Amino acid sequence: MTTPPFPLPTPADLAVVSSQLGREARGVVGIAARCVCGNPTVVATTPRLPDGTPFPTFYYLTHPAATAAMSTLEATQVMPELTGLLEDEETAAAYEAAHRAYLADRAQFGDVSEIDGISAGGMPTRVKCLHALAGHALAAGPGVNPIGDEALSRSAWSPQLCRCDDPGAAIRPAEDSTA
Ligand SMILES: [Zn+2]
Repeated sequence: MTTPPFPLPTPADLAVVSSQLGREARGVVGIAARCVCGNPTVVATTPRLPDGTPFPTFYYLTHPAATAAMSTLEATQVMPELTGLLEDEETAAAYEAAHRAYLADRAQFGDVSEIDGISAGGMPTRVKCLHALAGHALAAGPGVNPIGDEALSRSAWSPQLCRCDDPGAAIRPAEDSTA
């Protein structure tokens, strides 16, 4: 788990992310969470993409098994139940704090007026996208985003159990080009 500042993503990191997304990774400013094998699971993305598009989802879940697990959860009607957790005052306050932490992390990469005050996943008062909330929870670590933590704990996927297509590809030493 990593919040800013991030080390620069390596070419191997970006190659794995592009393969996970099935398209070229854009605007990646850091790897915010990794699988136990070292491959990225969450990328941090610049709030304004290279083509100028505002991009609120600073912590973006890229791992295919993780995104599939969150889609499965969303399909089980868990959203109203998770939203109900916000009726608890303490949980609601923690979720609001997670929203502010999210915006503060993103602001380190520039202010984008179009998405000013807008975080992701439905924060601070709704539960709309478990992919975004789990991405934040994986980046920030347990205890920051209560709904993201809850989504991960109910998920069949875990970063502790590698289900990558090419485990460790992001941290494998580059092949010696002179060989
Ligand atoms: Zn892995």
